[in-house]
Amino acid sequence: MKLTRRPRRLRGSPAIRRMVRETVLNVDDLIYPIFVRFGSHIREEIPSMPGIYRFTLDELEPEIREVQELGIPAIILFGIPEYKDEKATSAFEENGIVQEAVRLVKKLAPDLFVITDVCMCQFTTFGHCGIVKDGKVLNDESLEILAKIAVSHVKAGADMVAPSAMMDGQVRAIREALDAEGFTDIPIMGYSAKYASAFYGPFRDAAESAPKFGDRSTYQMDPPNWREAMREIELDIEEGADIVMVKPALPYLDIIARARERFDYPIAAYNVSGEYSLVKAAAMQGWIDEKRVTLELLTSIKRAGADLILTYFAKDVARWIG
Ligand SMILES: [Zn+2]
Repeated sequence: MKLTRRPRRLRGSPAIRRMVRETVLNVDDLIYPIFVRFGSHIREEIPSMPGIYRFTLDELEPEIREVQELGIPAIILFGIPEYKDEKATSAFEENGIVQEAVRLVKKLAPDLFVITDVCMCQFTTFGHCGIVKDGKVLNDESLEILAKIAVSHVKAGADMVAPSAMMDGQVRAIREALDAEGFTDIPIMGYSAKYASAFYGPFRDAAESAPKFGDRSTYQMDPPNWREAMREIELDIEEGADIVMVKPALPYLDIIARARERFDYPIAAYNVSGEYSLVKAAAMQGWIDEKRVTLELLTSIKRAGADLILTYFAKDVARWIG
């Protein structure tokens, strides 16, 4: 048989495979989410997320040191406050949990890039991402509060803010508020295409942010839609987002790939809690090779077109590939 094209020629040895490899996962791609909570002397593992903890601030230093030593460039902070009310007051207080965490991390590790999640769900009694009135999540009334939260994070020293509430106009409201305070150089990473996903389950345990009534489908996106995701991303860019995000990642690789083709902006993908827990659970049963499965999954997110990956696997991956 006379074959002229033999693709196997380029797979013959580790060296040639390395030379023609198209996608390489790098520690620089990783953003590690960290949960901080009120109180003291608490470092509690989240039952549905093995290896992920909620820290009080006095317990946070070893975690920050580890992230630094592993070479992970950035973290994103989520806060669990001491009290919740209807207006998310604890989310924008000068000495709120996130603001204090930002100050501490910037003191411990000035070069670590600190991103803050800007939302209301952990801080409101209703557990929704915006202000609630008569059983409805109000859009425009929520924008002012989201802007206040973002400004308070940046005043504490945050390097970038990431609005995740899926309120229309949230990026614009935050951009204008930051600029008015003189923070014109602080970038915004929009949770642009954030779906109403069942994969957030373990996160809600971790952040105590489950809604008290209804669900989030009046503001988060309907999972079957992809064209709408393009509109959401386009809007965020128009409103001033510097980085756009698709969340979750693995069930939405097609969204990442389409966004990559259309938009010449950095794309982040959030490899969410449920995606993490599925792998950890199967690994604990001995049913899969955790390292190989994790690296294959994260590589698929990058191959789809993501530049940045927010992932609870960040420390594991940095250990494996660093
Ligand atoms: Zn939220």
